[in-house]
Amino acid sequence: MPASSPPVRELISVFEAREEILRASPMGGTEEVPLRSAVGRILRKDASADSDIPPFDNSAMDGFAVSLRDFDGETVILAIGEDVPAGTWPSKPVGNGSCSRIMTGAPVPEGTHAVVPVEWCQSDGVVGGTVTITRRPKPGQHVRKQGSDIARDDLVLEAPARIEPRTIGVLASLGYGQVTVAVQPTVCVVATGDELVEASETPSLGQIRNSNGPTLAALASASGAIVLSEHVARDDMEHTLQVLQEAMDADIVIVSGGVSVGSYDYVKAALDELGFERSFWRVRQRPGKPLTFGKIGDRLVFGLPGNPVSTAVCFRQYVLPCIRKMSGLPPGPQFRTARLQESVQKVPDLHYFLPGRVSVGSEGCLSVVRSGAFGSHIFSSLAAANCLISLPEGSERVEMGSLVEIELFNDV
Ligand code: AMP
Ligand code: MG
Repeated sequence: MPASSPPVRELISVFEAREEILRASPMGGTEEVPLRSAVGRILRKDASADSDIPPFDNSAMDGFAVSLRDFDGETVILAIGEDVPAGTWPSKPVGNGSCSRIMTGAPVPEGTHAVVPVEWCQSDGVVGGTVTITRRPKPGQHVRKQGSDIARDDLVLEAPARIEPRTIGVLASLGYGQVTVAVQPTVCVVATGDELVEASETPSLGQIRNSNGPTLAALASASGAIVLSEHVARDDMEHTLQVLQEAMDADIVIVSGGVSVGSYDYVKAALDELGFERSFWRVRQRPGKPLTFGKIGDRLVFGLPGNPVSTAVCFRQYVLPCIRKMSGLPPGPQFRTARLQESVQKVPDLHYFLPGRVSVGSEGCLSVVRSGAFGSHIFSSLAAANCLISLPEGSERVEMGSLVEIELFNDV
């Protein structure tokens, strides 16, 4: 370790760990991408309107554009002077006993006060013929005014914002063929362990399937990162070193397992060999106490504990905020408040993150329970969960009926 490096901090709080990570995480750059490939990307430049929407006064109905000066009672007979389909521009004004047949979305002719829907008319619909209108429309009825939705120079989408399918339409309408978005951070995932085989393989005696590799890759890409590669390192120094070296292509390297103090945990030693500047080691939390974080050059390296629930929880609490910050988003996590429907006993000195199930109670308040047995190896509780219950350090027991913070899963 270089002489100038700050000392490695040990057994720090959840908040200190997140702060250290965010301090080390750089805000990424921006790039232009075509609108058609922008869904899911983070808009980094405000989108404002360079024109009005609608761009011209137009009809909201198929019917007849009329001047109200031609109405002296409920029923009138008007000459049809012109046909105005969508995509054309009217050449004749209405009024003086003449109207125009008009389609939805077509620009209304000069002199138009309202559009009368076809349902209120009897007509052969022929230009040069007549139409009998049996109801007098209100001024402005069925006319969509220019700029009534979005006026020129209005801010339409404020950066940073995730571009969703529902926002593509407004961007397209305003001429954003290209948008300025965050460059996606890149990630390499390294699972470690001699016991690991692929999901499609049948484990031999003593083996298990690698679940953290696919989980971390899925979480990283759902968080907006690009997963460059996924590796498995065997529990020997040489192979761990080789795999970690291959993983150094990415902005963020996520290693799962092998960071503890077991005899076959080579990750720390291999990282040190590669010049790891460790920022901290171990966090006062459950699950996920043996967490480490630091840098190798510009690479951010997370050493997550191998137990599957620990890995998933640590990703949400630490890697996700890092990816979000690098993408230009507020890092989070975003917590909400829910009422705990059971009492929970805990170790006072640890911050707990328990897989939970939140639902909306009878009075519209959020209610939460644990989603199953708790343990860093208990997959089923995590699979059944839709949130994490966050119980800070300090208390030995959280009583049923207490208000607690929860983090919903639906944002990743
Ligand atoms: P370790 O941190 O390497 O001591 O691993 C702790 C526990 O997590 C052990 O029970 C490992 O078998 C398990 N584990 C480690 N890596 C994985 C993985 N990629 N997939 C599933 N379980 C794992
Ligand atoms: Mg291991």
